[in-house]
Amino acid sequence: MKRIALGLLALMLAACSDPAPETAVNDESPDPVSESADAPPAVRPATPDADRLRVEWMRIEHGGWGQAEHKPALASESAEASDRPTLGIIIDDLGHNYSRGRRVIDMPAPVTLAILPHTAVAARLAKEANAAGRIAILHLPMQNGANLSPGPGALFADMDRETFSATLRGNLDDFGPIVGVNNHMGSLLTTLRPQMNWLMEELRGRDLFFVDSRTSAQTQAAVAAQEHGVAHVSRNVFLDNELTPQALQSAFDRALVEARTNGVAVLIGHPHEQTLAFLEQVLPGLEQREGVQVVAIGELVGQGKR
Ligand SMILES: [Zn+2]
Repeated sequence: MKRIALGLLALMLAACSDPAPETAVNDESPDPVSESADAPPAVRPATPDADRLRVEWMRIEHGGWGQAEHKPALASESAEASDRPTLGIIIDDLGHNYSRGRRVIDMPAPVTLAILPHTAVAARLAKEANAAGRIAILHLPMQNGANLSPGPGALFADMDRETFSATLRGNLDDFGPIVGVNNHMGSLLTTLRPQMNWLMEELRGRDLFFVDSRTSAQTQAAVAAQEHGVAHVSRNVFLDNELTPQALQSAFDRALVEARTNGVAVLIGHPHEQTLAFLEQVLPGLEQREGVQVVAIGELVGQGKR
């Protein structure tokens, strides 16, 4: 498995030898059970093995591109209403495992759930999140540059518009309620403007916002969202590229600095045991301690921009 991942990475590196210095490619969650493009979509269990492989892949990818740090699109304007720095936290890749999703709902701050379509507990988690006053968004699988399977419901570059839109609608209607969308993988698809236009037209029609996970330095998603009047914001920091307590704290601290500097920051993590335990430990009393307020991601996506 590792050899295959490394081989794919080598191909990616060869194809992208000149990345922008301040941006990163991060497909943040390789699918360890369906690396073959020919394999049928598989449900990824949230097992220690799956976690380990995912983390390994993230470490490899980020080793090649470095950490993304950039200002969020539009969000600074919405923060002007308050002088208190705000932090939006999203946990991606939910839907396979109920107990981990439930822990996100029960976090002592409004952490946003990004739920994969066509997964075992997607509908249950979205319903329970809504009942608890939390926000659930669709974690939309998209084609990545390494030809790893993004999982069921993925959007691919070679789909004609009819197939693309039918697949997208199948995902948007798969579970509810949702208020927005972010991308799962997508380091290839988000660079394609026509496909991002198709996506944003659908989101505009449904009044959904978009969070660009920025898995490619060349992402067109935020630009397309802006043009189509879709409220949007972009990820600043990935919380759990590495799962040691020191690395988690360091990434979290970078997000706090970003929030203080720009007024807002968007932090994305994954449902690893270490990540959830870290957030459960660090979130209580955060605002009193650090002066940064955790808010639902819906509050950061540029109100008044629709
Ligand atoms: Zn993901």
